[in-house]
Amino acid sequence: MSTAEPASDCLFCRIVAREVPADVVAETPRTLAFRDINPQAPTHVLVVPREHHADVAALHAADPVLLADTIAAGVKIAEDEGVAGTGYRLLFNTGVHAGQTVFHAHLHVLGGEPLGALAGGALRTPGSAHPN
Ligand code: AMP
Ligand code: ZN
Repeated sequence: MSTAEPASDCLFCRIVAREVPADVVAETPRTLAFRDINPQAPTHVLVVPREHHADVAALHAADPVLLADTIAAGVKIAEDEGVAGTGYRLLFNTGVHAGQTVFHAHLHVLGGEPLGALAGGALRTPGSAHPN
């Protein structure tokens, strides 16, 4: 689904609508940021566009300015969380191989400790390792 209409069955649309509680850390007119419920680093915040777009590709196709707003919000959160000086990662999981589980585009803001490998291979099944 890539429409900008709210999706009643979409968890992040429901968080944006405040129908599902979340630990909101920042808002802009077009984005909402809240802490990940299962943090992978000391700072782990998700930034979502208020409009529903299934993934970053759909968001970019529909509204590249909104994608830029989402990234800008992530940069500001890294500064506000105090991780900008030590470094952080901005990440969009997109599709099956990236392990995307919520199909409302969301930017992960990760930091606060060394983050390790960018792609650890945890989603690969034994014997399926890419030759490169
Ligand atoms: P992804 O794998 O990129 O689709 O990431 C989805 C993220 O959403 C995961 O890191 C989850 O821990 C997180 N998540 C799922 N449900 C919630 C929730 N209710 N509030 C905050 N974060 C959530
Ligand atoms: Zn949604």
